[in-house]
Parts: sequence; C-alpha cells; structure tokens
Amino acid sequence: MEKLIITIAPTGSVPKKKHNKYIPITPSEIAECALRCEDAGASVLHIHVRDENENPSDDPALFQEVVDKLKGRSNLIIQISTGGRANATLESRKARLAVPCEMASLTTGSVNFPNSVYANPPDLVSALAAEMKERGIKPEMEIFDVSMINAAIDLRDRGLADDPLHFDFVMGLKGAQPATIEHLVYLRSLIPHESTWTVAGIGAAQLVMGTHAILMGGHVRVGLEDNLYLRKGVLASNEMLVERIARISRELGRDIATPDEARTILHLSP
Ligand code: ZN
Repeated sequence: MEKLIITIAPTGSVPKKKHNKYIPITPSEIAECALRCEDAGASVLHIHVRDENENPSDDPALFQEVVDKLKGRSNLIIQISTGGRANATLESRKARLAVPCEMASLTTGSVNFPNSVYANPPDLVSALAAEMKERGIKPEMEIFDVSMINAAIDLRDRGLADDPLHFDFVMGLKGAQPATIEHLVYLRSLIPHESTWTVAGIGAAQLVMGTHAILMGGHVRVGLEDNLYLRKGVLASNEMLVERIARISRELGRDIATPDEARTILHLSP
C-alpha cells in the first residue's frame, strides 16, 4: 500500500496552555514542535497562529515567522489554515496566502461548531480557491459534512481547483458528521476516484478513525488542534501523537512517507 502521509496540526484555534501545557503558541514554539514532529514521521504541517493572549490570530506576519523559523531546518510541507475564527474576514483569510506555502486548508461550506457558526459562504469559498489557484497552492478540502464534497467538486468543475483533489474528512466534531467507519466508507465513495484523502478525527476519534484510514489506504492528521489526550486522563504532546500513529501504521504494514514522498503522492508541483 502507498506510504502514509501524517499531517500534524499542533495548535488550532481553541486549546490553550491551561488545557494542555504542550500546546505550542508562539512562532518559536510552533516551529520547534514541528521539527520534533517531522523527526517522528510527520510530512505536512497545518499552521494556525495565536496572539500574545493565546487567542487565534489573523496576522500574516505570525504565519511568516513560523515559516521563517523552519527555513533551512525542515523539509515539511507547509499548509496554512485559512480557517475563519478570530472574526476573520475574506481579506484577512486571503492575506495569509501570501506566506510561502505549498498547501492551504479550504472549508467548502458552513457548519456549526460546538458554540458558533463556522461561516463559509459560496463567494468566500470561490475567492479563496481562486487565490490558491493563482498562487499555485494546493487546497486541502476540509470536509465537515457530506455536502462539502459536492461543493469541492463544483469548484473543480468551475476551474477553481485541479484534479487530483485532496480531501480532509473532519469527523466527530459536535454538530457535524459522526466519526464512524460506515460514514468514512460513504465519504470515500463520494470523492473522485483519483483523489487523495486524509482523516482528522476529533477527540478520542483521532486514534480510531486514523487507524481505519491507515487500513483503508487513506492518510492521517493528528495533533492537539483536534485532540488533547493520548488516552483517557493522559495529556498528549504533538510528537507523542505522531509517534503513536506512525508506530501503528508500521505495525499494520504501511511505511511512513517522507515530505518528498508526500509531495509525489499529493501531486504537489516541485
Ligand atoms: Zn486547522
């Protein structure tokens, strides 16, 4: 089977140090954590940044600082989040794409988060996709619900994204799609045949859905953005989560992709 791409999502928008002391917050912490995760087997780094109060930030300079701190020290594929918390606008979400990166996340529809609406209206999604296409950045289609797959395919049909598409199935978030193997099999049946896909299980689903993805030929995202625990009551660090999923994958007979091997699998332009 194809080698496994492990994406590390170390920070996200929600958890703070008081929830898990291992959460990297500053650009230095994020970069150092990313290097440890790369050593443990990660090949893609999904980046969010925070301000001095640990709140999600929109500041492109902070994204740039993370990238700068990794320059010459890391071969990780940089994936900038275009997620919209922190009262982000289209302009602020688009501005991040000026930071040098090979990939960016693109949520193709709206969904309820546990305590808010994650609003991604059609014109905003199209504008972000167009900006990525113009800059040669590959979108990772963030799929919180089945309908978002149709919206991603529609972007492709309108020339705003190119085959092969790459999907991330976010599963187990309260208010969105469930984290079950039946639903994962269904999601996979809906994407274009040549697409690549990964799974981001939320909370305890990270381990379970990640293992299903390994067995089904998909890829896996882990990290404290989606899950704070190694097991019930035991806090995880990002590198622990990467090490564990890499170990499980090898035990199941799938080797781990290097960043360059991941570039080939994802059809990233060299
Ligand atoms: Zn994210």
